[in-house]
Amino acid sequence: QSLMNRKPPWLRAKIPGGAAYNEIRHLVHSYNLHTVCESALCPNIGECWSRKTATFMILGDRCTRSCRFCAVTTAKPLPINQEEPKNVALAIKAMGLKYAVITSVARDDLKDGGAEAWAQTIKEVRALNPQTKIEVLIPDFRGNRESLMKVLDAKPDVLNHNIETVPRLQKRVRPQARYERSLEVLKQSAEQGFPTKTGLMLGIGETKEEIESTLLDLYHIGVKILTLGQYLRPSPNHLPVDRWVSPEEFKSWKEFGLRLGFSHVESGPLVRSSYHADEPWQSG
Ligand code: SF4
Ligand code: SF4
Repeated sequence: QSLMNRKPPWLRAKIPGGAAYNEIRHLVHSYNLHTVCESALCPNIGECWSRKTATFMILGDRCTRSCRFCAVTTAKPLPINQEEPKNVALAIKAMGLKYAVITSVARDDLKDGGAEAWAQTIKEVRALNPQTKIEVLIPDFRGNRESLMKVLDAKPDVLNHNIETVPRLQKRVRPQARYERSLEVLKQSAEQGFPTKTGLMLGIGETKEEIESTLLDLYHIGVKILTLGQYLRPSPNHLPVDRWVSPEEFKSWKEFGLRLGFSHVESGPLVRSSYHADEPWQSG
């Protein structure tokens, strides 16, 4: 709690409320859906929901993993809701989204990691919303190439997979994941011509040199879109914040990324992987 009190002023987000916010809240719950906005306690929920954007989280709200930065509940997942792909499509239609971001928990309990449900969701959303761009923020499917192919075969518009942090901190931050494995997911997507996106949290213990070399790795395997945001500790049971990264430093990372050759970089204290996700596609 004392940590929360010490939060710098640039991390103050819009307080949730208002008609648009309530409408999204109602829709999400009436279709029995989950959002990462709520499940991950995202600080931008007031802003994004007022702008009528949300990130749907499919395959339940219980994750088989226990990343040390993440507020999503770790527990044995419930059976898959067969209605979910359709419901996501209906909610996107009701919200009139031109750009939809979909993510999921990690379902290491399922043989295909949930890839089939992913593909179905993309297909349903597209069938009902042919004009909507679909960004998928996927798990690593434990490196299962077939699962990744299943998702790519459904032709999302953007493939996003978060590397989250620098190589040295992977084990500490996301014990069930691996740096190389995540790079491989991104590489395969980029090689197949999908606009490929990833993100890192800063302020979780990495050095500036490590950020630089990670961005170089990502650039070299073909990632085009990058998000950088401040790590915020969701509870005292999660990893502590190592430092508050200033807005000026975020700005300089953006410049660094663009100089390297990324085509779009969102970098700022409150940036999350789905924050202003439609931005690279505005004005062509
Ligand atoms: Fe939801 Fe993403 Fe906005 Fe956060 S940044 S509220 S997760 S859409
Ligand atoms: Fe959270 Fe994703 Fe890690 Fe699950 S895999 S704990 S949802 S970050």
